Amino acid sequence: MADKRETPSKETLGFQTEVRQLLKLMIHSLYSNKEIFLRELISNASDAADKLRFEALAKPDLLGEDELAIRIDIDKDKRLLSVSDNGIGMSRDELVDNLGTIARSGTAEFLEQMTGDQQHDAQLIGQFGVGFYSAFIVADKVTVDTRRAGSDEAVRWESNGEGEFTIEDIEREERGTCVTLHLKDDGAEFAEPVRIESLIRKYSDHIGFPVSLHTEGEDETKVVNSATALWTRSRTDVNEDEYKEFYKYLSHDFADPLAWSHNRVEGKREYTSLLYIPAAAPFDLWNREAPRGLKLYVQRVFIMDDAEQFLPLYLRFVKGVVDSADLPLNVSRELLQQNPDLTAMRGALTKRVLDMLTKLANGDDYGTFWTEFGQVLKEGVVEDFANKDKLAKLLRFASTHAGNDVQDQSLEDYVSRAQEGQDKIYYILADNYATAVASPHLEQLREKGLEVLLLTDRIDPWLVDGLAEYEGMTLVDVGRSGLDLPQDDDAEAHETGNEQHDALLKRVKDVLSDRVEAVKVSRRLVDSPACVVAADDDLNPQLRRMLEASGQQIPESKPILEINIDHPLVGRLAAEADDARFGELSNIVLDHALLAEGSQLENPAAYVHRMNKLLLDIESGANSE
Ligand code: ADP
Repeated sequence: MADKRETPSKETLGFQTEVRQLLKLMIHSLYSNKEIFLRELISNASDAADKLRFEALAKPDLLGEDELAIRIDIDKDKRLLSVSDNGIGMSRDELVDNLGTIARSGTAEFLEQMTGDQQHDAQLIGQFGVGFYSAFIVADKVTVDTRRAGSDEAVRWESNGEGEFTIEDIEREERGTCVTLHLKDDGAEFAEPVRIESLIRKYSDHIGFPVSLHTEGEDETKVVNSATALWTRSRTDVNEDEYKEFYKYLSHDFADPLAWSHNRVEGKREYTSLLYIPAAAPFDLWNREAPRGLKLYVQRVFIMDDAEQFLPLYLRFVKGVVDSADLPLNVSRELLQQNPDLTAMRGALTKRVLDMLTKLANGDDYGTFWTEFGQVLKEGVVEDFANKDKLAKLLRFASTHAGNDVQDQSLEDYVSRAQEGQDKIYYILADNYATAVASPHLEQLREKGLEVLLLTDRIDPWLVDGLAEYEGMTLVDVGRSGLDLPQDDDAEAHETGNEQHDALLKRVKDVLSDRVEAVKVSRRLVDSPACVVAADDDLNPQLRRMLEASGQQIPESKPILEINIDHPLVGRLAAEADDARFGELSNIVLDHALLAEGSQLENPAAYVHRMNKLLLDIESGANSE
């Protein structure tokens, strides 16, 4: 990465490509949100103080006499603003890594989605998280002086945010970090004492360290915030805006959260939790290695970020803080796992989140939540048996009742509309909404006014397996054989004892024996001539396609072909005396049934060939008339 070394101590390094992209994204898209850079810098300073306090648990000498604090200096004439902390600081290597690269995997692909459209890109930033680089929204040069606690060596990082930065050794007496912004013309407002004071109050009132403001030319340095960590305050003392600000500080998101829940538990185990539901998913929600979990404090002392042990994987979108009064201060991830209190805490926190979601589900924002996190929440039905009932109530589906592709129908809605005597919840699995809603499998159900849930998410085959039933009603896949619909009086007549039908079924089966398991008279079709269904013990076709796409070997299985005995095309088939043409036609009927459910034909060329031949036959038939 180094391109040149100017003096033994000063070198110029290039930013990693992702950082360059991120810088561009920040500067262009957060333009109308400039001031948030200050929150990010204060947040980093506060994290640095937290980290030092944590390291000092094992090495008390690191801390020394000074109180941990953050200081902001402004110099209006020189248009300078700096944020200093006496926290952990950074070594030379850490500085190069932290402020020259981004380590989150998938970042490059994600950042390539930038379009230059401010609103679109601002949303991307929201999914990524704002950070240190936001300083370049208001500054054309940023200088970072830092000295790692416990080390004598200090380093300076400097950049104009355009692709490169320099690193050099410096003298610095104090440990910790000072970030200095050389403000642009249109960032000058951030060297105004009044403006800065109100911003500091807004952005730092909830953190546990004093933040003071010093203006060049004035003697006084005043502490601006209340220096009480927000979660330690009583619920009644904290207003909505403060909760929202704290969320942004915690998450580096710049949008408001959808909901939060703040609780103090007393008694056998004592802890405080403050949990948030974000309004948008992070870009790496589906990356198993992505950071997740809560920030853990023990007796107000920061212990670790991303403490994933406190919530199950399917609640990985929750942000927040847990502050325990009884966990040991030296608790590590490993020790945490063995801690007997953990299971109980995890259970209680999970319940809190589900209660929060249940409340949210009654309001207007649930649609937003569901769009962002619904698929993740569905994992819970499969993984968290104990909370299955609660989770089932939180699920939302597209359905034939609503007639659009929005997932906004609950199982409760479905049950409330069920017909008299209906004891099943019908669903269809398909690759997408268009395939689901147009599926021949729905025809009879539609005719009978039976509602069908349209399931198109990758996880849905597992979801329905895990769910199995809801309030005594069994979930039934309408794409399977043996579908048993209510009020089927003439079904018997269709099914058995009709010699004509039986002969046709046998004839079709004989020509298609390589391709289908069985041929049956259908009770679910109205407008379509045929459909394919999976045998009861077979994988459903969606799941099969998914597993195959992920490289798994799935044992061969043939579908069951169901034909609509009342359909004119089937009538035409039955009347076909020519065996060759009967064979062609039967194959086409099957091909179409497969295509309608979204399957790939095994031999598309053969299908096209048959179809062309058929079209030509029609043509010549028409000519000869
Ligand atoms: P984030 O804070 O989301 O990790 P940033 O880009 O803001 O991302 O910062 C990158 C890293 O730089 C931080 O994780 C931290 O390790 C380091 N860092 C930033 N500011 C400071 C600071 N004031 N003191 C110590 N380390 C810092």
